[in-house]
Amino acid sequence: MAEAYKIIDHVYDAVVVGAGGSGLRATMGIAESGLKTACITKVFPTRSHTVAAQGGIAASLGNMGPDHWTWHMYDTVKGSDWLGDQDAIEYLCREAPAAVYELEHAGVPFSRTTEGKIYQRPFGGMMQNMGEGPPAQRTCAAADRTGHAMLHSLYQQSLKYDADFYIEYFALDLIMEDGECRGVIAMCMEDGTIHRFRAHSVVLATGGYGRCYFSATSAHTCTGDGGGMVLRAGLPLQDMEFVQFHPTGIYGAGVLITEGARGEGGYLTNSEGERFMERYAPSAKDLASRDVVSRSMAMEIREGRGVGKDKDHIYLHLDHIDPAVLAERLPGISETGKVFAGVDLTRQPLPVTPTVHYNMGGIPCNYHGEVVTLKDGNPDSVVPGLFAVGEAACVSVHGANRLGSNSLIDLVVFGRATGHRINEITKPGAPHKPVSKEMDDFALTRLDRFRNSSGAETTAAIRLDMQKTMQAHAAVFRDTNLLNEGIEKIDRVQARLNDVGVVDRSLIWNTDLIETLELDNMLPQAVVTVHSAANRHESRGAHMHEDYPERHDDEWMKHTISWFDKGRVTLDYRPVHDYTLTDDIEYIKPKARVY
Ligand SMILES: Cc1cc2nc3c(=O)[nH]c(=O)nc-3n(C[C@H](O)[C@H](O)[C@H](O)COP(=O)(O)OP(=O)(O)OC[C@H]3O[C@@H](n4cnc5c(N)ncnc54)[C@H](O)[C@@H]3O)c2cc1C
Repeated sequence: MAEAYKIIDHVYDAVVVGAGGSGLRATMGIAESGLKTACITKVFPTRSHTVAAQGGIAASLGNMGPDHWTWHMYDTVKGSDWLGDQDAIEYLCREAPAAVYELEHAGVPFSRTTEGKIYQRPFGGMMQNMGEGPPAQRTCAAADRTGHAMLHSLYQQSLKYDADFYIEYFALDLIMEDGECRGVIAMCMEDGTIHRFRAHSVVLATGGYGRCYFSATSAHTCTGDGGGMVLRAGLPLQDMEFVQFHPTGIYGAGVLITEGARGEGGYLTNSEGERFMERYAPSAKDLASRDVVSRSMAMEIREGRGVGKDKDHIYLHLDHIDPAVLAERLPGISETGKVFAGVDLTRQPLPVTPTVHYNMGGIPCNYHGEVVTLKDGNPDSVVPGLFAVGEAACVSVHGANRLGSNSLIDLVVFGRATGHRINEITKPGAPHKPVSKEMDDFALTRLDRFRNSSGAETTAAIRLDMQKTMQAHAAVFRDTNLLNEGIEKIDRVQARLNDVGVVDRSLIWNTDLIETLELDNMLPQAVVTVHSAANRHESRGAHMHEDYPERHDDEWMKHTISWFDKGRVTLDYRPVHDYTLTDDIEYIKPKARVY
């Protein structure tokens, strides 16, 4: 098959796939040390989904009140519902302040306090005094455009280093030989040329797979391509049952209203005008963690207290906040409310509903970014040459539920850590191990099959079927019947792809083909998500199983890992790391999680 396509060869010390916050931070770090580095991205770097992040980035700077990294760590462990690995969480929270100062020095225009320090707002689940409260103001923000500011600064910085950018190149598959990763194969979308990148290290920074669902805050490009490549390489994904619903997506449009809106004093009401969060989370109220708030909203709607004609959504009030504060701290969402809901939020409440927002699950890795798998009984067996960072990865610091503003910090802390590790293990210009033609064939046979497919099904129809199935069967509330039906349906949707037909056969900007390849990346992840969810007989974090409403630490405090091979799912487990990195903090023991 490789003969049918012209292959252009490139040789690098390291290749990063993805130019969002995590990919750019990794690229910068690797290139800075003089390694020959490439960054491949299917969209222009500053169009990556990180650009849409609004609310902010968590770090215990203590600019607006007392704070400490151990408090941040406690909250993150509790937020994860004790499924996060505590060594990695310690690393994240300790390194966070330095990472934010680094961003400040890189030019991120953070909002400021009157004394000129970085402004920090309260966010859900972020508390002082090891969870005791009061709320900590820990989330550093550039108004409500933090991701935009970060991504632009990171891209500007990365241009300073000698990294090569391959922009609008679509990575197809990893080059795996003898259990190690030796590069990646990509297609230039502009002219259809095929590029083989050989590298000692490949970093997958491809973002989440939120677009498996019908209503998601994530960009249309969030199709989990890295996860798709990993499954095809015969490696597992981890904790895929944990999908975060953000409480405040605009009803109908799915566009995000940042948690910062509640951080600045916004609150939710039901059809009776009641501030119902006081009943579900008496202490944290509207700033309980996202899984808790989303579930409470779904419960209100289910019990007939939703608002609107169909009583199927909730109101978010910001109309009591001084318009000057709204204009300064939340200018972006004021505009979003007007455009997507036709609401002037200084006067009217916004219609909102829980909307898919973040994938806690992903490519399992350690806190150096090294991808790990379960091999010969070793649950932390490193896959040589392969790294993962950002939302594509599962380190796991977010466990069963991520706290708001903990993803942006994850991107930069682990993007940087991955750079360090690659610098440590790579000799610049070291000779490359051979790669066989079979790997080219593997990637190109798949490409060619879809390109010339002439089945009766369209990509759009299969995708819609997948999205509706996921929305109906793997959402905020789950039970045995719903999940078992979900398995049957999603397996059937997956099989429909065998009969897909692509109309455009060209290789020049063939969006029909690219969308089909993306769908082929998403579908296996949708399948393992439902299978993993049906298998977990407990409720933890974002996974609320109504037939098993309690958390069961004895049996279930473990990561699910899932393989996908020719339509078949295999599940196994990795233990949660119940130890910290240093003696500066003890293992945080599991407790009931109340807010
Ligand atoms: C609307 C919204 C608001 C958010 N707000 C916040 C917030 O305030 N605070 C917070 O902490 N988190 C927030 N999050 C979450 C956070 O922004 C994301 O988790 C994070 O930005 C993901 O970054 P990333 O680097 O992993 O990937 P992304 O930014 O999604 O970038 C993925 C990159 O991979 C590339 N790519 C993907 N597939 C391929 C392929 N096949 N070939 C080549 N390139 C490929 C893309 O081109 C892109 O450059 C928000 C998320 C959303 C959706």
